[in-house]
Amino acid sequence: MSSPQHIRGIDDLGKEGIIEILELSDHFLEVSSRRIPKVPVLRGKTLAWLFYEDSTRTRLSFEKAAKRLSADTMNFSVSSSSVKKGESLRDTVETISAMGVDAIVVRHKSVGVPWMLPKWTDAAIINAGDGAHEHPTQSLADCYTITQKLGDVSGKRIVIVGDIKHSRVARSNIKAFTMLGASVALVAPPTLLPPSMADWPVDVIGDFDTAIKEADVLYLLRMQHERQEEALVPSLREYTNQYGLTIERSRLLQKSSIIMHPGPMNRGVEVSGEVPEIQNAVITNQVENGVIVRMAVLYHLLGSGVTPTEIQNEDNND
Ligand code: ASP
Repeated sequence: MSSPQHIRGIDDLGKEGIIEILELSDHFLEVSSRRIPKVPVLRGKTLAWLFYEDSTRTRLSFEKAAKRLSADTMNFSVSSSSVKKGESLRDTVETISAMGVDAIVVRHKSVGVPWMLPKWTDAAIINAGDGAHEHPTQSLADCYTITQKLGDVSGKRIVIVGDIKHSRVARSNIKAFTMLGASVALVAPPTLLPPSMADWPVDVIGDFDTAIKEADVLYLLRMQHERQEEALVPSLREYTNQYGLTIERSRLLQKSSIIMHPGPMNRGVEVSGEVPEIQNAVITNQVENGVIVRMAVLYHLLGSGVTPTEIQNEDNND
């Protein structure tokens, strides 16, 4: 049995692995700017998408990344598959695997699913989000965006605001940002913080306005109603008053600071309608870089033979 590498969480990469992906991303940014942004490095490889939860950005960006690398893809949708007939996760994975697949990109509402899959398949596993646990490729897109905009993640003060308790993006980002040398502060009502943060290398700041002033990066999170079983804030209006980013509040930011959000945004809740369009916001860059880093991730796991600097277009004309 071959033993492929996986990217199930940030710890699968470690600091070295993150840096390698960020460096590879520079090559794929260049590839993506070519007249024909398509290279044959994953020709003959097959990727399967196994999405048990909804997704727009992550799924589409993986698809686009795979196409740019000339990989074949198999699309699986829970609503139109045998999962509806009660097929288990194990049987589904073994079935997909029997068709010949080199990597499986999985999103599931249950924490830990990506760590279960290698028992049933030889394919490389990429976590596209497991419950409130991890979302490593979002985090890589975020690290790449910060590096592009601010030169480096190291030494930056990154303030993460909002529904931290239910956020897999926050968990992956806290790991990745601190591994790369940033200092991280969290701002949230106590009900939206995890019950124990004893081993989290973060500060908790009570007052949003104080935190904004020290942020190089202000990272907003979506209020994740789908994972909340009880009322965790008295009212959305009160939450927005205290923790929502309005245009007035954004004026407290330093001129060079950036505003990030992993999407989808709840405009009018964690962010007021106009904020995503102001100059400090790099939310669209995060989406663009989502494609670039996912090309790097797929190449890192499955590419062989060609070094990134030798990557030529399919038709060799560029
Ligand atoms: N898109 C991100 C995720 O899947 C963030 C969010 O949904 O709020 O976790």
